[in-house]
Amino acid sequence: MIKNKDKKVKALILLSGGLDSLLVSKLLQEQAKIETLYLKLPFSKDKTKEIKKFCKENKIKLHIVDCTKGKLFKEYMDMIRKPKFSRGTALNPCIDCHIFMLKKAKKLAKKIKVDIIVTGEVLGERPLSQNKKALLLIEKEAGLKEKVLRPLSAKLLPETEAEKKGLIERNKLLDIQGRQRKKQIFLAKKYNITFPSPGGGCLLCEKEYCKKLKFLLKKKLTYQDIKLLSIGRHFFASQIILGKNEQENKLLEKEKGIKIIPEQPGPTALIRLEKKQNKEKLIKKAKTLIRKYSKHKIKKFEIKSS
Ligand code: SF4
Repeated sequence: MIKNKDKKVKALILLSGGLDSLLVSKLLQEQAKIETLYLKLPFSKDKTKEIKKFCKENKIKLHIVDCTKGKLFKEYMDMIRKPKFSRGTALNPCIDCHIFMLKKAKKLAKKIKVDIIVTGEVLGERPLSQNKKALLLIEKEAGLKEKVLRPLSAKLLPETEAEKKGLIERNKLLDIQGRQRKKQIFLAKKYNITFPSPGGGCLLCEKEYCKKLKFLLKKKLTYQDIKLLSIGRHFFASQIILGKNEQENKLLEKEKGIKIIPEQPGPTALIRLEKKQNKEKLIKKAKTLIRKYSKHKIKKFEIKSS
């Protein structure tokens, strides 16, 4: 089928904040009218600012879906607790996470009437979720069989519906494979993308973080819990958190809860009180911990509540 040259196909590109998906938006602009989607995920580094900047500079429409609150947060956390497929080296259920993301993209695509969903995935770049079998499984599970275009590796993957229909020209797509990023760096220079450090940024891949998380997953968690788990020393199932340095002390002082601040240099403690708990008992425990982790003899404390 020959494409009507006046009418570009409409594509929704999932932006992760990494280089690959940014390259895809540049690569596909020639063939498609593009819009982008950024899903703000609870355990991933927030890239909203960088993505907004990129989209503004390149005059690309951006949709942001915040999965750190409300129903979407709950849905995401349910998936983290009980993934259908296997986890990676820590608690990261990457296959389920990709299915979650594609389902959200599918919903938006329907609403804004786009023809294809596009991702920046590269074959073989991540062992668990970016091998051929996993890529095909993910799109099938998301109800998007043959409907997800991965332009960076498209020539190494089965033809998608859009290519079969002639909506996208396969010969203009690429055949990048593996973890080496030479081709992506070359393309970044070509497209003048002065963007980001490679991938990473997901707390679910960090073993030390996940040791603490595993314990807390049995409880109802908030986004605040998730953020706080990555800083400080945690005691009594994270009910008392002690700052490890000045920067962490300042962060803890901004959080909701009871803050115990020593008058001499030392760690700030954040107490997160649960219903029916003895406040005085926890304050006493926090003061003991502060004294233990301070080099100075602490005599007085300031107590703030918010
Ligand atoms: S690394 Fe984290 S954000 Fe990325 S797919 Fe895996 S679980 Fe999801």
